[in-house]
Amino acid sequence: MINQNNMLSNQSTPLGAGLGRVVILGAGESGVGAAMLAQKMGFDVFVSDFGKISDKYVDKLNNLAISFEAEQHTESLILNATEVIKSPGIPASAPIVKKLIEKQVPIVSEIEFAKRYTKAKVVGITGSNGKTTTSLLTFHILKQAGLNVALGGNIGNSFAALVATEEFDWYVLELSSFMLDDMYEFKADIAVLLNITPDHLDRYDYKLENYAASKMRIIQNQTPADYFIYCADDPETLKALQKVTPKARMVPFSIEEKLTEGAYLENENIYIQISPNTQFIMSITDLALQGKHNLYNSMASGIVGKVLELRNESIRESMGDFKNVGHRLEHVAKISGIDFINDSKATNVNSTWYALESINTDIVLIMGGVDKGNDYEMLRDMVKSKVKAIVCLGKDNRRIHDAFEDEVEIIVNTFSASEAAQIAYHLAKRGDTVLLSPACASFDLFSNYEDRGNQFKEAVREL
Ligand code: ADP
Repeated sequence: MINQNNMLSNQSTPLGAGLGRVVILGAGESGVGAAMLAQKMGFDVFVSDFGKISDKYVDKLNNLAISFEAEQHTESLILNATEVIKSPGIPASAPIVKKLIEKQVPIVSEIEFAKRYTKAKVVGITGSNGKTTTSLLTFHILKQAGLNVALGGNIGNSFAALVATEEFDWYVLELSSFMLDDMYEFKADIAVLLNITPDHLDRYDYKLENYAASKMRIIQNQTPADYFIYCADDPETLKALQKVTPKARMVPFSIEEKLTEGAYLENENIYIQISPNTQFIMSITDLALQGKHNLYNSMASGIVGKVLELRNESIRESMGDFKNVGHRLEHVAKISGIDFINDSKATNVNSTWYALESINTDIVLIMGGVDKGNDYEMLRDMVKSKVKAIVCLGKDNRRIHDAFEDEVEIIVNTFSASEAAQIAYHLAKRGDTVLLSPACASFDLFSNYEDRGNQFKEAVREL
């Protein structure tokens, strides 16, 4: 379907004819945001999505009279672009992208495009796990301290849509590796890299070093006036750092060693030391986010606050009253003495490891779904010591059976959230925890991780 009412822009003299033609591939939050901004800047804009476009975005494009097509890529309308903005979900291997590369049409991400049109400063947050939590917490800290700040990127509103509609002094941007892949001139004033663990390897030739290189793009173009905040306990980050020389001021965080500069843990307190005369201290029992992995997230966010010289009191208050979004180690209910936890957002092995690590009871683990090339080896010891039964929730569970049949006596297959919740309930006893932490994507049985988590919560409430 091509939206005819706007096709004029292809033939007549559009406002941005002199600036060139921007073609946007993908009409989700990021694509439609990019289209809004490109239109505002006066480009000739065309949006093309090979799949269906949701009603919300069709309406938005129509309201703005932006040309678009759905369920097809019309080459004659795409290959004549001066620049293409590619949505992060579209792989470089997609035929239309290959053709654009062949024709040497520049391809950028929506973040790269949007950054050209704002003078605001940016905190860019990436990592394999914890991006959303840390972005939300950082935003909360900055906002509560009174900064004129917006949150965007891979979360909520797209960066481009924000730039198109409002002026801010600061942006906190959650950045996925797919976004970073198409960023060249972008620079984060404060870059945060939480961790690097295998994820999305299907998009990186199954090579961790390719994925790590993509994450390291977070420091591209940084200068000595900028900051790079990273986890000193993360072996893959340290390995990746041997291959590059960051120009920014490096501020590490660790829960394993005491650091002279950065954030560290001592006697159940978080310490943050950026400049010699100001120290931040907070007891970990006062943190809103509990669990070992969240210590890292709190440290990273706290460092951003200190770099911006926010008051200790204000940072402490925000780190104490923050409310995380659902599906991340979310406590659902206690039924017959059994705790039910929804960690549906755990879509890779590492986040499941942290979920298991944070629980101190016997666990009935509900896992499975779309396996993105998982290596279950890192879960083996944790599963062996804590998990009494595994309830698989996915269409094809062979790899989970193969990985854990020697460690766990009971492994059962289920094909719906309610079946999984019921079986897990029967397998658990008083004092145990039923944990949904799938280590896999959800698209085989659910529309997304939220749908999976919501169906699980509903099933638990019906037990
Ligand atoms: P992302 O946006 O990177 O996917 P989220 O904050 O949404 O990260 O959390 C995703 C999953 O990873 C959740 O299951 C959460 O409990 C877990 N998690 C959060 N922070 C970390 C961390 N620093 N290290 C490992 N796992 C984490």
